[in-house]
Amino acid sequence: MRPGQKIEMHPTEQMPLVGILGAGQLGRMLALAGYPLGLRFRFFDPAPDAPAGQLAEHFVADYTDEDALRRFAQGVDVFTYEFENVPVEAVRFLSRFAPVYPPPAALEAAQDRLSEKTLFRHLGIPTPPFAPVDTREQLDDAVRAIGLPAVLKTRRFGYDGKGQRVLRTTNDVESAWQALGGVPLILEGFIPFEREVSVLAVRSRTGETAFYPLVENHHRDGILRLSLAPAQSSIFSHQSSISNLHSLACDYASRLVAALDYVGVLAIEFFVQEGRLLANEMAPRVHNSGHWTIEGAATSQFENHLRAVLGWPLGATAMRGLAAMLNLIGALPDAQAVLALPGAHLHLYGKAPRPGRKLGHITLQAEDRESLYNLLEQARPIADL
Ligand code: AMP
Repeated sequence: MRPGQKIEMHPTEQMPLVGILGAGQLGRMLALAGYPLGLRFRFFDPAPDAPAGQLAEHFVADYTDEDALRRFAQGVDVFTYEFENVPVEAVRFLSRFAPVYPPPAALEAAQDRLSEKTLFRHLGIPTPPFAPVDTREQLDDAVRAIGLPAVLKTRRFGYDGKGQRVLRTTNDVESAWQALGGVPLILEGFIPFEREVSVLAVRSRTGETAFYPLVENHHRDGILRLSLAPAQSSIFSHQSSISNLHSLACDYASRLVAALDYVGVLAIEFFVQEGRLLANEMAPRVHNSGHWTIEGAATSQFENHLRAVLGWPLGATAMRGLAAMLNLIGALPDAQAVLALPGAHLHLYGKAPRPGRKLGHITLQAEDRESLYNLLEQARPIADL
């Protein structure tokens, strides 16, 4: 090596380059977590105004554009994705250039509600009763087998409650079929759950695995509005019941990460019913119900996802006090009013307001439940909750 050769190389060029499919707020928060570790980021997203593009290199092209994917791949050390509807073909194509985590098989399973629930069942993870529906006759058969009420959902591309109809009586069957029929569907028994909870697991390339505490989630119009970490509603008031549910969730998550040889953060959403957990869905990526970890855990889900996909040691997942996360949907809050609350942290994603759009979130932190609930009452009107 000639003396001085090293000097020609800009130091940042030696840092791992992480290529991320999808440049939404999840990608943006991944980059924000990775910069302190010296990582570099490059995003791929067809939307020119995607939020992560404000802070990293952004390739704007369709996910089916192989030339663009090839250019995007140049020099990337590891790929990941922050959007679960990214075509599996794009992910498999990129795996020719560098490792892709989470593994494409996990993405494939998560993209189809039927494959996902079949996988859960295969691993002994309880789910609501379900049946595939491709024809009107199959819908009638499924309604007979499962009973009403039930939920008819599209198998693919559903999120935030989109692409689903609740069937309460047989009169609803035809209208639900009219609304959704024509694409592969799944009928699920309607679960009169007591709460919705989620668990985040993270597994590194080395096999090291960790779990975040079980979180309680509250939705409105199918969109997550509030997460409480750890789950702390009165239904969980018996300490044993929450720790039992947490152990159960970790057990189910362990089965999934082992079966999928998983790498990265995996989120699993469950319904809680009479002390049982029924798996609703999984997301092979960082998850909205884990945003509280940025301030509320020793290591955020975003940092741990990056550590995992790089094969680096995972950080501790222990909580720092109690946390609540409120999503900001459709309208921006009065930022100063948020910041005036003690223990409140504001995260805005750089997106233009639009009805139903996730624009940011607020994390509240407190040492005890009473203080957290007081803070929450103050934050609710500011976050329009
Ligand atoms: P999903 O898109 O499957 O996450 O569904 C969005 C929301 O609809 C969930 O968070 C639940 O509140 C509700 N939901 C979905 N499936 C069911 C079900 N089988 N029983 C009762 N509620 C459901």
